[in-house]
Amino acid sequence: MKPLFNTARRFAALFLLTFASGMVADDAPSPAGVVPQGNPPLDPARRVSLEVLVFAPHPDDEVIGCAAVILRAHERQQRAGVVLLTSGDGYPAIAAVVARKERDALAPDDFIRVGALRQQHSLNAMTRLGVSPDLVMFLGYPDSGLEAIYRQDDSAPLTQKFTKKSETYGVTQRDYHSIVHGRPAPYLKASVIGDIAEIIRDRQPKEIYVTHELDTHADHRTAFWFVRDGARAANYTGPILTYVVHGQPPAGPPDRRLVLTKAEMDAKRAALEVHQAGTSPIHDQLAAEYTKPEEQFWISRVEAAAPK
Ligand SMILES: [Zn+2]
Repeated sequence: MKPLFNTARRFAALFLLTFASGMVADDAPSPAGVVPQGNPPLDPARRVSLEVLVFAPHPDDEVIGCAAVILRAHERQQRAGVVLLTSGDGYPAIAAVVARKERDALAPDDFIRVGALRQQHSLNAMTRLGVSPDLVMFLGYPDSGLEAIYRQDDSAPLTQKFTKKSETYGVTQRDYHSIVHGRPAPYLKASVIGDIAEIIRDRQPKEIYVTHELDTHADHRTAFWFVRDGARAANYTGPILTYVVHGQPPAGPPDRRLVLTKAEMDAKRAALEVHQAGTSPIHDQLAAEYTKPEEQFWISRVEAAAPK
């Protein structure tokens, strides 16, 4: 037996399978009335402005929360971009499946491979919804570590217990900070807020979407705090539309409801199925559970930072 070689080969096969499934799916005919053109052609300027900017804590939340938001932006000839705060690299159940190991035998590289796989999932899923890969940004902060970073005193970067990383990274696609600044950002609160504020300033979105602060997943509620703080630092004054993935929705009716058409339901389900690839049985029910007939949002606004 050559365990390392076999593991690498299995991963390569899984990766190809995932990528290939995305490619095959993209060749399939689009449901009527959905994804007619995707993002309009890019401007020569590298950082084009985006009318809609979706923030998601993990790969899959962007589809769960905002698939129809993205489809309808494209119907209006608007550009939509997606920012993943983490690459989903802190998920032991999926790491065990990918590495074919018991959970207590998992090593940092196993989690890094999960992050690579889940980045590919988001790129494939967004391609299905018409978002080009250059408008999918991975910040590369640690899955299951956002709240600890938000609450830290900035004295030392967090080291994620799974990957042992203490700075941003990306495998399938490089992390945003490395792409833009030529070096990764340390796992510090100021780094996360700085990256988010910079993206908002560069992209000038009209609407920002992020998970709700009442979401029961720590990364999800913390994603809201980070985006709120980043938006404030960028003097963003538009709406922040928040969505709930885990837990009960807030009291009171949503401020905005998108009732999905049959074609939008089909597109959303197909994008969620992309996120299931190579993770069975952990995410086998993802598409079935989260292809809901409505996307609901509660609007939050931030006050601009006081001028200095
Ligand atoms: Zn999530």
